[in-house]
Amino acid sequence: MISKEILKDKFRGAILGCFLGDSFGAGFEGMSPDRAISRLGTLSEKYGRTYTDDTDMTLALAESIIESGKVDPEDIARKFSQFCDLTRGYGMGTIQAVLALRRGAPWHEVSRIVFEKGSFGNGAAMRVSPVGVFFHHDFEALRKAAMDQANITHTHPLGQWGAVMQASSVGMALAQDPKRPFKKEEMLIELREILWPGPVEYQKALNQMETIFSQSGKIEAKEVVRRLGNGIEAYRSVPTASYIALTYSPDFQDAIRTSISLGGDTDTIAGMVGAIVGAHVGERCLPVEWMEQLEEGPRGYSFARDLAGRLFETWCEMAKP
Ligand SMILES: [Mg+2]
Repeated sequence: MISKEILKDKFRGAILGCFLGDSFGAGFEGMSPDRAISRLGTLSEKYGRTYTDDTDMTLALAESIIESGKVDPEDIARKFSQFCDLTRGYGMGTIQAVLALRRGAPWHEVSRIVFEKGSFGNGAAMRVSPVGVFFHHDFEALRKAAMDQANITHTHPLGQWGAVMQASSVGMALAQDPKRPFKKEEMLIELREILWPGPVEYQKALNQMETIFSQSGKIEAKEVVRRLGNGIEAYRSVPTASYIALTYSPDFQDAIRTSISLGGDTDTIAGMVGAIVGAHVGERCLPVEWMEQLEEGPRGYSFARDLAGRLFETWCEMAKP
């Protein structure tokens, strides 16, 4: 049984872990693995680091859960409309969706306005860590909540189930002993069960992870990209993040460096890895020299840290542990 104090630390670890991964990964977006690896030294340079759409939406989602005590797509859409700062590296699809919400379009029509068949990008997964921590005690509720929040922008099953996979990984990480490495094999079995009703792409990715774990465990960046992907599609980035987190946690910096070394959608993959590893190790094990570089301001580091604490207090009230 995890104490309340440790649990609160883990809630903060998940939110700030996403913030860190996103902020440190942002400068590498779109690079090849070779180029990203050649630039990894810049991670040791000290300067103010700013977050992108991944953290921006994560904070808005957390605020909605705190205020409504549940996952209510209508309220989340309102928060997106109110708080999303579209200068923070948003993709065209999400910009159109947020602008439609601001024009007063109903939340359930917005996704189809942008992508007729629904988006299968990783946008619904990149922001889902508040759902992962808030429903870590009930995976059936977690699955539904991850899907409900996805539906605002991502109605394609690949986009929805990517959010389910990422939220599940965060939820499982929260329940794991922060002093020990992940129980990888057990987590794979659980992920397989949770994702069973979803698209076959996720089962294929889990097969790949199982094969890698049964061999060496760690493979080089280009091989990770070939087998699991580094793209903006949910099924080519969410399993990648789970693989990196399961392999490199509890070493937060090693996990983030490895995510960034893949190139591609580095801020989102590193943000998702950061959320999972942060939920595992908690805020107290996040690298201080990296935290010091995170931006402040009205919706910066202190705001995010406080928000994660309030999310925990809300969970205590709602779940009555
Ligand atoms: Mg981003």
